[in-house]
Amino acid sequence: MASQGADPAPQDSRPRLTVLSGPSGVGKSTVVAHLRKAHPEVWLSVSATTRAPRPGEQHGVHYFFVSDEEMDKLIANGELLEWAEFAGNRYGTPRRAVAERLENGEPVLLEIDLQGARLVRESMPEAQLVFLAPPSWEELVRRLTGRGTEAPEVVERRLEAARVELAAEAEFDTTLVNTSVGDVSRELLALMNVD
Ligand code: 5GP
Repeated sequence: MASQGADPAPQDSRPRLTVLSGPSGVGKSTVVAHLRKAHPEVWLSVSATTRAPRPGEQHGVHYFFVSDEEMDKLIANGELLEWAEFAGNRYGTPRRAVAERLENGEPVLLEIDLQGARLVRESMPEAQLVFLAPPSWEELVRRLTGRGTEAPEVVERRLEAARVELAAEAEFDTTLVNTSVGDVSRELLALMNVD
C-alpha cells in the first residue's frame, strides 16, 4: 500500500510521558480527576508522600502515605523517578510503575510540582511538560486560602512557592489556563493523543 509521503512520524502518536505541573492550588488534581473520569485508561502515577492524609484521601489511591524513614529508603534505593520537598513534606514518583506502563504503550500522566517536572525533563527529555496556569493571581490566592484544610502558615508557604512556580511557565512545552475544568482536561487529552 503506497502512502503519500505526508504520514506523520510513527512516534508522534505513541503515548509518552506527560507531566502536569503548576502552582499549588491551581486545580491540577481537579483537572486530573475530571479527565480520568472520562478516560480511565489514562494512567496516573500515585506518588509517595510524607504529608499526612487530608480527610477523604486514601492510601494507594491519592498517595502512598509513608513515614520519613520509608521515604529515605525509597530515595536511597533509587526507587523514585524524581522526588522533591514541597512546603515541608517530601513527594516522589515511584519509578517502576511508570516505566512498566510506558513499556505497555499506555498514556502516563504525572501530576507533580515544578522541581519534579524539571527533574523529569533531565532524566526523560522526551516527556512533554504542561504548565497549568491560574486565570489570575487573585484567583490562585482565593483557591489556596479557600481550601480551608491547611493552617495559615502552611497556606503562606504554599503562596510563596506559587509565586516562584508561576515564574517558571516559560520552561514548559505548553501552558493551559485553568478557566474551565472541562476545557482544560479536553486540551490535555488532545496533547496526550487520547480521543
Ligand atoms: P498536595 O500536598 O497539595 O497534595 O501536593 C503538593 C504539591 O506536591 C502539588 O504541587 C503536587 O503536584 C506535588 N506533588 C504530588 N506528588 C508529587 C511527586 O511525586 N513529586 C513531586 N515532585 N511533586 C509532587
